[in-house]
Amino acid sequence: MKKYDLAIIGSGPIGLFATSFAQLHGFNTVTFEALEKIGGQPTYLYPNKQIKDIPAYPKITGDNLIKNLNDQIETKNIISNYRVQKINKSDQNGFIIDNDYYVKSIVLATGLGAFQPKPLPLEIPSTLEQNIHYFLPNPQDFKNKQIAVLGGGDSALDWALELSPRNKVTLIHRRTSFRGLESNVTTLSNSKNVSFFTPFLPSKIQPTSSNKIQLTLKEVGNNNLIEKEFDDLLVAYGFKSNNTQLRKWGLQLSHGLIEVNNFMETNIQGIYAVGDAITYPGRAPMIGIGFGEVQIAISKIMETLFPEKKMTLHSTGL
Ligand SMILES: Cc1cc2nc3c(=O)[nH]c(=O)nc-3n(C[C@H](O)[C@H](O)[C@H](O)COP(=O)(O)OP(=O)(O)OC[C@H]3O[C@@H](n4cnc5c(N)ncnc54)[C@H](O)[C@@H]3O)c2cc1C
Repeated sequence: MKKYDLAIIGSGPIGLFATSFAQLHGFNTVTFEALEKIGGQPTYLYPNKQIKDIPAYPKITGDNLIKNLNDQIETKNIISNYRVQKINKSDQNGFIIDNDYYVKSIVLATGLGAFQPKPLPLEIPSTLEQNIHYFLPNPQDFKNKQIAVLGGGDSALDWALELSPRNKVTLIHRRTSFRGLESNVTTLSNSKNVSFFTPFLPSKIQPTSSNKIQLTLKEVGNNNLIEKEFDDLLVAYGFKSNNTQLRKWGLQLSHGLIEVNNFMETNIQGIYAVGDAITYPGRAPMIGIGFGEVQIAISKIMETLFPEKKMTLHSTGL
């Protein structure tokens, strides 16, 4: 059995900061990530968006924020593609994770749970499969293409903004208004490379003779059909997350989120939770708030596990 002081479950921005902050204070840690890549929502939902509300960074992309958080971690003991299934109490006062790991304490940074993109609910001809995307790891590789972005939330708007300088982008949304930053909608409306189809829903995908995408769009509320041709299609319908395991682990939840006290302790002694996974009055799903929760939780764990040690408050003293 592998032994660690602390397991961090989830490697979104908050799990990554929990890992580095715990290591800074001398914990030996293991971090688990269900997905292939670290970084949670910034990596998968908005890698190229400029985030403007992280203290000390006037702006930073989602990808660069995750890169910096990862650089701050000294011992890269992060196990990806590993979805924690079982947490049991051990006889020695700690926890056994999936029968393989003994840890003295746990920090849950599971966000809204392990997530998967919501699929496009249409039959996709096999010859076009490589042209339908849910995520573009290297958007700069797409140049001078006709790209349809499907969806009306922040993610769809961010992808359209990212792609529009180099491509012709068509935003297709089932409503006339978007659920995203008004300033982004204005920038896109003013771009000569962006056109809008609202309120329209994609109803059929077929290959053209040159193997491009022929997308049939149906106007919402009537039977108007329009056919448009695209090179690529980016589905930004959001992600569905699954945090059903939280209940199995015996955690007290409120509307699917973990309840914590002022020290980020859950109802199970020794298990703490931080970031988007938790709820308390006044909490908002923002990265800066999660960073502060990490510092509260790790300080409390330090005091509980190693009462003989004096917690050095500031990193200059470490
Ligand atoms: C489009 C969009 C734009 C945003 N813009 C901003 C912004 O500008 N500023 C801002 O402050 N916030 C922004 N946010 C919110 C911000 O992304 C979240 O608050 C932040 O990602 C929460 O971090 P987290 O680490 O708690 O959770 P997440 O980022 O959700 O990461 C959780 C991780 O835990 C993993 N996980 C879950 N269950 C398990 C398991 N059982 N085993 C192993 N791993 C598991 C998941 O796979 C995931 O990688 C935005 C969100 C979205 C969707």
